Amino acid sequence: MKTLKTIYLDNAATTRVTQPVLQTMIPFLTENYGNPSANYRLGRQAREAVEYARKQFAKTVNAKPEQIFFTSGATESNNIVIRRFGLKSHYSPFEHPSCQGVNELNTPLSLYEDDIIKVITNRLNNGDWSWKSNLVCWQAVNSETGYIFPVGNIAQAVHETDDMYLCDMTAAWGHIPIDLKDLDVDFATFSGHKLHAPKGVGVLYIKDPKRFRSDITGGGQEHNLRSGTENVASIVAMAEAAMRYKFSYVADGNMCDKRKYLLDNLNRNLDDFTTNIINPDWHVPNIVSISIKDVEGDTLRAMLDSRCICISTGTACHSQSLEISPILKKFYLPADYEHGTIRISMSRETTYEELDIFIKELVNAVEQLRAIREGVDVVS
Ligand code: PMP
Repeated sequence: MKTLKTIYLDNAATTRVTQPVLQTMIPFLTENYGNPSANYRLGRQAREAVEYARKQFAKTVNAKPEQIFFTSGATESNNIVIRRFGLKSHYSPFEHPSCQGVNELNTPLSLYEDDIIKVITNRLNNGDWSWKSNLVCWQAVNSETGYIFPVGNIAQAVHETDDMYLCDMTAAWGHIPIDLKDLDVDFATFSGHKLHAPKGVGVLYIKDPKRFRSDITGGGQEHNLRSGTENVASIVAMAEAAMRYKFSYVADGNMCDKRKYLLDNLNRNLDDFTTNIINPDWHVPNIVSISIKDVEGDTLRAMLDSRCICISTGTACHSQSLEISPILKKFYLPADYEHGTIRISMSRETTYEELDIFIKELVNAVEQLRAIREGVDVVS
């Protein structure tokens, strides 16, 4: 039996660790496996590697090394900040669950519909609102639709009311330029596995670390902010990935070309679908969300899975319920489109040939589902 090659188009969920990144890890698992806190050569080598990785990562996001703390991923980074506040923290309707309802003081931002639209359409002006919070959580890029929020403007608005700003940069990392000094966020969070580094490693950026205390106690690693023996090999890999795959206009041009190719070919071959893109310049090019008329996204995902193609339903249905997610609600999809939402997310490794096979299989699966539906309708 012929084994089909997997076509992986769910890179917003996680990415493959690439060969050059893997190679940087191996010595720290096999030979230089010392504990960075140990004061002998093997330990000092590991310490040097961690500190070098910190410098490398910091450079890619225009931060100082002392503002970068290594964690197990964005979930932990978000939790460290939100739980520490002890006072009110508020989140946008679009946040990842690690920023929502983390504790009883972490509640939704009460924004008027019009205010949200202002953010989404990039029309936020200083002084528009007076949010009263101690910490505002608002992501940089929405991972379901690739929508890029105006982080700099949000930071200004948040600071006008003397609040602090936690920006989850997980879906933005590698896909838009990130200059933390210029954006002026107070906290930013990242996960290694979203950009070809391993799972279980991430970063917490703190603008003013001297003013911050963490609730995690233990061996005092990471300047007492995140105790626990450092995941040296993964930290080294994440820094390598940050250097290698940081946003570049050249790589972005390539991704924009891939998105255009995907959309042009979908338009040519697939009937009755809509793209959840407000303006291509306002979305990262690696994430494409589409809603297809008269099909269930979940059924489509399963059919493509049986053909070795991985896509996601764009978390259109939140928490297993049939309710569509807050971000998709902003696209005001007609009822017969909203449950047919899928998310295609590409990486630098995605090839045009893979996109061709995906489109062919998608069109075929949609035709089958629609035929079944029509058959049922005729019978009933
Ligand atoms: N924020 C966003 C926007 C994410 O997409 C994810 C991962 N799905 C996280 C935070 C959490 O990352 P991790 O699971 O690696 O901790």
